[in-house]
Amino acid sequence: MKQLAPGSRLVVASHNPGKVWEIKELIAPYGFDAVSAGDLGLAEPEETEPTFEGNARLKALAAAEGSGLPALADDSGLEVEALGGAPGIYSARWAGPGKDFGLAMRRVHDALSEKGAWNGAAPRANFISVLCLAWPTGEHRLFEGRVYGTLVWPTRGGNGFGYDPMFVADGETLTFGEMEPASKYAISHRTRAFEAFKRDCLEQVKPQHAAPKSGRNLEALEAAARNLSTQAELARFISGLREDFARNAPEWKAADLAAFLAALEKAASAADVPDAEPRWRTLARALLAASR
Ligand code: IMP
Repeated sequence: MKQLAPGSRLVVASHNPGKVWEIKELIAPYGFDAVSAGDLGLAEPEETEPTFEGNARLKALAAAEGSGLPALADDSGLEVEALGGAPGIYSARWAGPGKDFGLAMRRVHDALSEKGAWNGAAPRANFISVLCLAWPTGEHRLFEGRVYGTLVWPTRGGNGFGYDPMFVADGETLTFGEMEPASKYAISHRTRAFEAFKRDCLEQVKPQHAAPKSGRNLEALEAAARNLSTQAELARFISGLREDFARNAPEWKAADLAAFLAALEKAASAADVPDAEPRWRTLARALLAASR
């Protein structure tokens, strides 16, 4: 199998800032020069395939062919047994145009209620992640990871994203939304797919010890602000922003309260807020904008 050479340039074939950040974090120890499809100005292909494999392949090939570089894409979702695998490849779409995962989880809950699936044992479900690494020649490889468990209602916890607050992995008692991120990543579907990718494609690339990060990690804050939809997620975002201030205050444009409030007022008056956007996300984006 074709291997990735240490230091190669690799396109992260996604326009989802949360995913780009997560994939960059996974490959960072291997010293790749990672760049996102969005940063290269590549168009986002429509996910027209009926499977996770098909969509991951379609995204990776489009980015590899468009950039002339190897590209890594991921397609993931939640599959609920009693719903015949739904929402599956439509997991993101069940959240509507505002990407409101409170709404998506309620839809899963209601669909299970209609089937009487909450009456017996907890409904079974799994997360799945399919990674595709593609070269500009069209050569590509697929890697799959799953985590199995059950669903709970009401939802619990504000960590993670998407359907995390309603999913309990087998052998655990906390939902993914209640677990510390490191505990979730230790068993998650995405980590499992990445382990398979590492075994096949990174054998010769030794993890390099990255220098400790200095300065603001704006990419991570942006990703969090653009993906959150619940009040608990907003609280977690604010805690991240507070930590960032404690470490990097000199880099904040508005580092005293009067200047920050003035910047916040300006950000809150901006006219570019999509109608369907969850209000907690609007607030997070304004807070981040005021800090820049
Ligand atoms: P994609 O961008 O088409 O791959 O959409 C994946 C969707 O699946 C996300 O928007 C989430 O709703 C859901 N999903 C995937 N991975 C996770 C996870 O780790 N936790 C919670 N939801 C997830």
